[in-house]
Amino acid sequence: MKVNTAEIVISAASKKQYPSALIPEIALAGRSNVGKSSFINKLIQRKNLARTSSRPGKTQTLNFYIINDQFHFVDVPGYGYAKVSKTERAKWGEMMDEYFSEREQLRATALIVDIRHEPTDEDCMMYDFLKHYELPVMIVATKLDKIKKSQQQKQIRLIKETLQMDEEDPFIPFSAETGEGKEAAWRTILEFIR
Ligand code: GDP
Repeated sequence: MKVNTAEIVISAASKKQYPSALIPEIALAGRSNVGKSSFINKLIQRKNLARTSSRPGKTQTLNFYIINDQFHFVDVPGYGYAKVSKTERAKWGEMMDEYFSEREQLRATALIVDIRHEPTDEDCMMYDFLKHYELPVMIVATKLDKIKKSQQQKQIRLIKETLQMDEEDPFIPFSAETGEGKEAAWRTILEFIR
């Protein structure tokens, strides 16, 4: 996939700020620091369009990027910070409900997990949440370069089992460092948006 243009459209704090264009959307979700921004930046070949290592406590927004004037990537705020307040957590939940339960343009969500670790309870909750709304999910297991080749299959099995993942959901081992999995990720995304 050749990305000619990739621009931020808006950082939306609420529904009324979502773009009105009826173009397909792919949401990207994952716990904070998992490598979500690096995944987006690697796919669109920009160093820093999506912010990396966003800190907690900042305003939580859904960031809409338009790619090749063709579809949106929607960067969902990372979850899993131990230190966020109850109020912030509740706000995050409302934001998720508002977007995922109603957004007609949404074609699929890429749930980003770390291939080195067993998915957290919050990863499982996010997966179940998407399934609850009957939304298509692709799993991206990132930081592939950080494990030995001989461990890959074991880690993939662990992730699938812990999430109780549907076998038909696409599963993509990925590295933002080496670019491994990039073509597979694009193929899957293009299938969802066509
Ligand atoms: P986000 O908070 O989910 O957006 O995470 P970031 O994209 O900011 O990544 C968090 C940290 O992990 C950064 O230091 C990245 O450089 C690093 N990182 C992300 N993806 C990879 C990867 O595939 N391989 C390696 N080795 N490091 C990665």
